[in-house]
Amino acid sequence: MSAKIISGTEVAEQIRAELKVEVAELKEKHGIVPGLVTILVGSNPASISYVTGKIKTAHELGFYSIQDDQSVDITQDDLLKLIDKYNHDPKIHGILVQLPLPKHIDEKKVLNAIDPDKDVDGFHPVNVGRLMIGGSEAKFLPCTPAGIQELIVRSGVKTSGAEVVVVGRSNIVGKPIANIMLQKGQGADSTVTIVHTRTKDMAAHCKRADILIVAAGVPDLVKPEWIKPGACVIDVGVNRVGEKISEKTGKKIAILKGDVDFEAAKEIAGYITPVPGGVGPMTITMLMKNTVKSAKLSIK
Ligand code: NAP
Repeated sequence: MSAKIISGTEVAEQIRAELKVEVAELKEKHGIVPGLVTILVGSNPASISYVTGKIKTAHELGFYSIQDDQSVDITQDDLLKLIDKYNHDPKIHGILVQLPLPKHIDEKKVLNAIDPDKDVDGFHPVNVGRLMIGGSEAKFLPCTPAGIQELIVRSGVKTSGAEVVVVGRSNIVGKPIANIMLQKGQGADSTVTIVHTRTKDMAAHCKRADILIVAAGVPDLVKPEWIKPGACVIDVGVNRVGEKISEKTGKKIAILKGDVDFEAAKEIAGYITPVPGGVGPMTITMLMKNTVKSAKLSIK
């Protein structure tokens, strides 16, 4: 039987609709408008497109938003001063510095300068620690892992006691999603294994997984025979494997592939995310959700 396809596009739309209601309530009851600033240094085309997408979504949801674009030769000191300005701006609840930054700027220093209570990307060491402690301590979950959890939970997949296997141990996907699924409570309570390039028998681990989350960045890494029948497969990988002409726009676009052989895997899995249209659309939405949460937490 073919797997249920988990559409990140649809789930993201649902969450955005919920957020619109929350934004309206915040305005009406508390006079607060969630505020998001994006700071872009330089003119990397991919970064411009990410920032534009974030600001557009913020605008659609009724946020107060600032797109603060800076020249590529801004000094580190000036960038730190800019962050400090937004740290102290009560209208701003979320600060996002678009990566990568130019070589003369210490990325870590800049990200660590963001007030952890406005760190809606969830990468500040304080928020990483809060996530590790879990429960009410956790404030902002990093956006892609948070989106993965939403996809699993909203698909009705049981997480309590489930064997979760995560392929990849990066700080932005592998480690945080493993941590999230390990926590006590709803949408988690799983038994988690992380595998990586030094793992002895990756196939054996994957075969045990009730929920298999793959974030390696290697096209078709996970073979269909590694998938337990009925498992939930979340494919985070986004790999450019060629180009094609878009039917919609007539322009050249990248052909994207995940880390899982989707066509074969969907005949074995119970649930599976496609690439594109799976995890991808969730990331910006979770950034918006974190910003609304930050605005709510600012209510005295
Ligand atoms: P990353 O920093 O390159 O980490 C990849 C991880 O996968 C590493 O831990 C690596 O192991 C492991 N790995 C690589 N090849 C492997 C193999 N053959 N067998 C076992 N493990 C292997 O990547 P990332 O930032 O986590 O991103 C992973 C993928 O997700 C990429 O395709 C990226 O584009 C995509 N992504 C998508 C979104 C989104 O949709 N919004 C967001 C973020 C990332 P070692 O640690 O041992 O090297």
